[in-house]
Amino acid sequence: MLSPTSGPSPLAPDWLSLPDDPNALRAQEWAHDVVRHPAGELAIDGLSVQQLAEEFGSPLFVLSEADFRRRAREFRNAFDEAFAELGGGVDVYYAGKSFLCTEVARWVMDEGLRLDTCSGGELLVAQRAGVPGAKLGLHGNNKSDAEIRRALDLGVGRIVADSLPEIQRIESIAAASGRIAKVMLRLTPGVHAHTHEFIATAHEDQKFGLSLAGSDGPSPAEQAVLAATAAEHIELLGIHCHIGSQIFESEGFAVAAQRLLGFSAKMKSRYGVELGELDLGGGYGIAYTEADNPRPTAEIAREMAAVVAEECTRLALPAPRISIEPGRAIVGPSTFTLYRVGTVKTVVVDGAAGPAERRYLSVDGGMSDNPRPVLYDADYSAVLANRASSAAPVLSRVVGKHCESGDIVVRDAYLPGDVRAGDLLAVPATGAYCWVLASNYNYLPRPAVVAVRDGAARVIVRAETEEDLLSRDPGA
Ligand SMILES: *Cc1c(COP(=O)(O)O)cnc(C)c1O
Repeated sequence: MLSPTSGPSPLAPDWLSLPDDPNALRAQEWAHDVVRHPAGELAIDGLSVQQLAEEFGSPLFVLSEADFRRRAREFRNAFDEAFAELGGGVDVYYAGKSFLCTEVARWVMDEGLRLDTCSGGELLVAQRAGVPGAKLGLHGNNKSDAEIRRALDLGVGRIVADSLPEIQRIESIAAASGRIAKVMLRLTPGVHAHTHEFIATAHEDQKFGLSLAGSDGPSPAEQAVLAATAAEHIELLGIHCHIGSQIFESEGFAVAAQRLLGFSAKMKSRYGVELGELDLGGGYGIAYTEADNPRPTAEIAREMAAVVAEECTRLALPAPRISIEPGRAIVGPSTFTLYRVGTVKTVVVDGAAGPAERRYLSVDGGMSDNPRPVLYDADYSAVLANRASSAAPVLSRVVGKHCESGDIVVRDAYLPGDVRAGDLLAVPATGAYCWVLASNYNYLPRPAVVAVRDGAARVIVRAETEEDLLSRDPGA
């Protein structure tokens, strides 16, 4: 068998640097309480990853409760402070779709946040966790009547309406149950942000929201304001937008805020309608690899507050109550996934500069516990977790065990040359949009999620068993 060649590889992407020390952890990708022990092993809040893998199995999602809470608090404090002068107040809604279970819903409440849901199932988790209805929001471009009814029965703080027909449906369901539905309108400001870029256009071509642009006559957004204010069982709270995800700069939020406030001013002068709340959505970026450099939350918050304040003054609008909906930026870095290495092999690839080697490290999970690399070409990093190694780093690809050649966990990482079967790898920043997107492809049971706090680990979602999977097959 070929032994892998260490050192810089011609197959490595431009952003990936050869580490001086492949054992080192880049702080921004990890929960703050993850460290490498002097003896070499990775540990979280004093618990070694070896212990965790032995007790709970692998793959395993390991979530730092303290880190989650810290990031939740940081958002609340940063936005409270930044918008304090404006005076309208701020609500932070944790986007439950990024990761949700009853335990996490309770932490969100403890930290003074609210909770966004986008399905009946997410509402049910919130209800079972004891979240007061008033602290909940419900999103979705195709809510069922049953979901709207459940939301109204729970007394949700707001339903974010996504279309004109939905406003009518909310009105009739609320009327039938004798309730008043609190409603925000999801508008599409023509701003799309993705990672380092944002694009501002006049029109939208996507399934979400009500357009601010109308070809002739009132725009869908304007019609929605009229419909919602005319509806007897709807209390129109304000307007909402969500411009994208994994955003690192504030310009996209700023342009969206300008457009929404411009719309508010128009509704006020044209119809005397006051849109008292402005939700600027989520999408705050995190570091998955060394290529990502998120800015401090407080800076982004201050820049957004400055734009909102300036626009309100210019348009002579009273300060709206602000809300934001971070998901990824709270839970993403709080969690890492532990995998055990099985097969190790090195292949020779015809690179641009002649043949080059790539080492494949197969682990005991893959696209069933993290489909983001397959879905979005998402990049991740990894470290050898059960020990430190003095072997020189080798360009490696961490792959899963599924019957798909695209089943990649970490496309490119430099890992020590002596990684072998039985070692543990840890992949950081897997808290958001991994477990919630997990599948049972190839009949793999979905992994457990354990939360670590004060040096103890406890299961907050247990692992599935093969029997769980078979339990839905009446012939099994
Ligand atoms: C997905 C989503 C969010 C959260 O996005 P993150 O990138 O996780 O911060 C917030 N609001 C809405 C409406 C969403 O769809």
